[in-house]
Amino acid sequence: MNYPPFTSYQIGDYLITALSDGNMPARLDLLSGIGTVDAELIQHSAGIVEPGNIHIYCYLIRGRGRTILVDTGTGGLNNVGGQLENKLSEVGVSPDDVDTVLLTHGHPDHIGGLLDAEGRPAYKHAELHLHPLEAEYWHDDEKMKMASERGQRNFMMVRRILEGYAAKLKFINGSEITKNIFPVWLPGHTPGHTGFCIRTGDKGLLIWGDIVHFPHIQSAHPNVSIEFDCNPTQAKETRKKILEQVVREKLLVAGMHLGRSGFANVLMADSGYHICYSQE
Ligand SMILES: [Zn+2]
Ligand SMILES: [Zn+2]
Repeated sequence: MNYPPFTSYQIGDYLITALSDGNMPARLDLLSGIGTVDAELIQHSAGIVEPGNIHIYCYLIRGRGRTILVDTGTGGLNNVGGQLENKLSEVGVSPDDVDTVLLTHGHPDHIGGLLDAEGRPAYKHAELHLHPLEAEYWHDDEKMKMASERGQRNFMMVRRILEGYAAKLKFINGSEITKNIFPVWLPGHTPGHTGFCIRTGDKGLLIWGDIVHFPHIQSAHPNVSIEFDCNPTQAKETRKKILEQVVREKLLVAGMHLGRSGFANVLMADSGYHICYSQE
């Protein structure tokens, strides 16, 4: 099925556009709480040809004179993803136009694009907003010592980025970021994992970060967690709570690892929930 290259939604004064950074290979056995065979079955019945692949989205918010980017993809790290800059240019936005980067959390597939090849800020006019617990976590030497070699490289990368943006770093404090854009603390995947909700009148869109990595599997089975969750128990609780809330409030959702159009409605299913992509 063909979809327009960019899907956008207008919520009040803001136009929100999903920009694909590409795919990253993952494996269904990174999931716990479901067997690989069952997980594969869900992927296949959702029409997913490569069941172990995870898609990466970033979101551009334009309106009220602002150009805001939510997450920055991998920056091409490990030859994965790295499409964001091209996608921005295709919608007529230069990295210099971006005034604010909102970070959901510090994993490499979300922050990799923040520095250029020379290690300088790629979005040199942008303020960088993140949750204070996220900065605290990645600066924790004890946590870094306990991490794998790859994990330790992630810690170093977050530290380099936060240093690069030090003059423009803003900590999210729970209040409105700019008119009608609110942070939503969604802890568990990482301690400062944060979503962003754009609300106006009776319309609302929640960009929920990494609430799900395999959308069909983890909506049907919200108890299924992934190895990347720092605190799987808290991540499960947060996932269940937010799924319940988006259904109750009929919020449109966007997420960094959603597929298809990058926007979805969440519906109640016989057990768990069902992700219904907005183009379906
Ligand atoms: Zn993550
Ligand atoms: Zn992610």
